[in-house]
Amino acid sequence: MSLKVLILGVNGFIGNSLTERILASKDWEVYGMDMASDKLENCLDNPRFTFVEGDITINKEWIAYHIKKCDVILPLVAIATPSLYVKDPLKVFELDFEANLEIIRQCVRYKKRVIFPSTSEVYGMSQDAEFSEEDTSLVLGPIHKQRWIYSCSKQLLDRVIYAYGVHEQLPYTIFRPFNWLGPKLDRIDEHKEGSSRVVTLFISNILHHGEIKLVDGGKQRRSFTYIDDGIDALIKIIENKDNCAHQRIFNIGNPKNDVSIKELAELLVQLVKEYPAYKNLADKVKISTVQAEEHYGKHYQDLGFRVPSIRNAKTYLGWEPKMDLKTALLKTLDYHLDGSKRTSSAA
Ligand code: UDP
Repeated sequence: MSLKVLILGVNGFIGNSLTERILASKDWEVYGMDMASDKLENCLDNPRFTFVEGDITINKEWIAYHIKKCDVILPLVAIATPSLYVKDPLKVFELDFEANLEIIRQCVRYKKRVIFPSTSEVYGMSQDAEFSEEDTSLVLGPIHKQRWIYSCSKQLLDRVIYAYGVHEQLPYTIFRPFNWLGPKLDRIDEHKEGSSRVVTLFISNILHHGEIKLVDGGKQRRSFTYIDDGIDALIKIIENKDNCAHQRIFNIGNPKNDVSIKELAELLVQLVKEYPAYKNLADKVKISTVQAEEHYGKHYQDLGFRVPSIRNAKTYLGWEPKMDLKTALLKTLDYHLDGSKRTSSAA
């Protein structure tokens, strides 16, 4: 009998990429719910994929039925965009924590394996050179810095899941994505400032606005991870060979792709110049600096750097990321800008 995988938020950045990979490389069945299906065009006709349009806070019967029916549950529904943490913190708490807690409790009730997306944000402003799942302290700012409500909601759910593991034998795996990027991360045609994450926002800035704004000068650093590498890790977690992922937490990130936001902006501008139809826009784009408070409001607080330790993922999953940042960005740009017209051959 083939494995039955339930993915809530199946049209999201991780959900749609994972579904596409499962259908292409495994004989598993995928049951998915989301409010839209625009990113699932390559999956909808597959007989091993069942899609239902719905909202996890409303369609509770469908979810309960499918938690009972499936072998592995991935509750991927969440708000994961920093500008929204400060704009609508209660919605972040209600969706990321409250709605997902209900799902976790059903996994406990029906003794189902759950694979939960935590976040690199849980480490907050920790000063450790590499963030480790077991040893790093989770460092957040004061309450009025509402940016941390996302980190805190995810952290509390991580702790609840861990406790259910200890006290109710919940079979779980927690994974922490470190700035995953790729095609379909966010839409680049959405002109709303701050509605997407930095890579898509900068691409959109180059194409539509003529200006990239570096928050506080762009000295802050992130480790960017290509989506296919992340999906490789998730497939290994779902497979769970010899129970290797059982009751473990994994950072899933690429420590070699650690760059400052300024370097990211400069690299993107340079790469867009390789697409003749857009070179003119990249030549003209201005890179400026904006104060964080002006850009995000006074409830924002940034973190200076975050590099994952991936020792756990290497040891237990036999996983390592492969994709360098430049190639990852070119693949993302190819999707948005017609890669067949690019002048360089790499990627
Ligand atoms: N950032 C920036 N300019 C922008 C948008 C984002 O300099 O127009 C910075 C932001 O302040 C943060 C980094 O880019 O330090 C990454 O932002 P993202 O929204 O991708 O999420 P984060 O990594 O903070 O979760």
